[in-house]
Amino acid sequence: GSECNETSEKPSKIPKINFTKLFINGDFVDAVSGKTFDTIDPRTGEVIARIAEGDKEDIELAVKAARNAFDHGKWPRMSGSERGRIMMRFADLIDEHVDELAGLDAIDAGKLFIPLKLGEIPAVAELFRYFAGAADKIHGETLKMSRELQGYTLLEPIGVAGLIIPWNFPSTMFSLKVAPALAAGCTMIVKPAEQTPLSALYYAHLAKLAGIPDGVVNVVTGFGHTAGAAISSHMDIDKVSFTGSTEVGRLIMQAAATSNLKHISLELGGKSPFMIFDDADVNTAVDLALSAVFYNKGEICVAGSRVFVQEGIYDEFVKEAVKRAKAWIVGDPFDSHVHQGPQVDKKQFERILYYIEQGKKEGATLLTGGNACGEKGYYIEPTIFADVKDDMVIANEEIFGPVMSLMKFKTVDEVIERANNTIYGLACGIVTNDLNLSNRVSRSIRAGVIWINCYFAFDKDCPYGGYKMSGFGRDNGLNALHKYLQVKSVVTPIYNSPW
Ligand code: ADP
Repeated sequence: GSECNETSEKPSKIPKINFTKLFINGDFVDAVSGKTFDTIDPRTGEVIARIAEGDKEDIELAVKAARNAFDHGKWPRMSGSERGRIMMRFADLIDEHVDELAGLDAIDAGKLFIPLKLGEIPAVAELFRYFAGAADKIHGETLKMSRELQGYTLLEPIGVAGLIIPWNFPSTMFSLKVAPALAAGCTMIVKPAEQTPLSALYYAHLAKLAGIPDGVVNVVTGFGHTAGAAISSHMDIDKVSFTGSTEVGRLIMQAAATSNLKHISLELGGKSPFMIFDDADVNTAVDLALSAVFYNKGEICVAGSRVFVQEGIYDEFVKEAVKRAKAWIVGDPFDSHVHQGPQVDKKQFERILYYIEQGKKEGATLLTGGNACGEKGYYIEPTIFADVKDDMVIANEEIFGPVMSLMKFKTVDEVIERANNTIYGLACGIVTNDLNLSNRVSRSIRAGVIWINCYFAFDKDCPYGGYKMSGFGRDNGLNALHKYLQVKSVVTPIYNSPW
């Protein structure tokens, strides 16, 4: 590959790896099989650490621990405020260990250290605080019912939750699932992605320090088709919450259907449209469009990878976008000048390069990028294709890399129709100052989140999830709490009451 952009700063803050074993029932233990797998530094392709490889037997042990903690333990039975207090302590510990946690995700996933330290990890702590605050506000309703009956509903924790998470946001994904599950009073088995097991084990350590009882949070590292599949088909897991590919989401739904009909929620892939209308300010539009698809090296399910630009602003937009993409710095994620680190692993790296080749073959115009870069590691140049047709592979399949597909449009009706022409429905970006236009487009696009003049505007209070084949169920917000609760109705006769 060609040279990556050079910067002057020396990488630092590479963390020590303290936790490499499964966390079951409050202890770090080897896998039953004794097996381990390597977790790789995507900057170099070298091994960072050997991690215990959990499989079916280990899931079995973790489920036993979680089941016992749910059926007989304190966590689901203590008051909500007590759970909330412990979760607040957990949040404080996360803040105190922000350097270590940011360092682990940076080295394991190739994510930028500074945004992790200043943004993502503090937001993880905040999410735990948000749900800690909800833990003592979980209640049902009283029901007047018909004359001789009265009733009330209880919101009860659903039980043992299996939380299967991906590698692109190891910390955020951990918190999006674990925080509401804890607040609800569930116990859980977390299966981090095999590419990025390090931070989840560190969170497990902090959970113990915070006073979360043994067996409530278990972390089983290992592969999807073994440890992951053992979760989705387990008879004694009541709920699976999954974020990952649509393909694996389908397998999880099948496994739930053929085992115990466990509840599931799925947050899956996307091919989100990002629309720029003629009246937009070019600089704003370019800033947003670039970050919408290059942020986190494009490894983000809500990436605005289909960029629709209205014809009046198109030429100016393209010129500016290419200029900025060329100035986008690819390099070591520990270097604070860098905009984009390496892709998470060799497989993703090769997959992205395959899609870039596909784009060239199908006749899209490569405006910039298109190559791997750097002497070693999994770096890819920010890439922009123009003249992308709606039926090209790169306009339809999720690439999960720094690849922008540009499409020109004329009318609002046209862009709405083209934007909706996808199996996915995760997110949508709109850049315009025309309120009526943005209102109309917001209501016409079949997607779970619409960002107007912003992108990646996530917040703990704002529900997030998919339409169509991007899945169902929402993370963030109080909606997420209800994924881990179920409703029980209690009914009793009431005699001789005229009211
Ligand atoms: P990607 O293709 O981007 O790596 P995946 O959907 O394969 O994303 O992975 C997301 C998570 O799902 C990871 O933790 C992975 O180990 C897990 N996983 C993969 N395959 C399965 C499966 N068959 N059953 C359960 N979990 C799985």
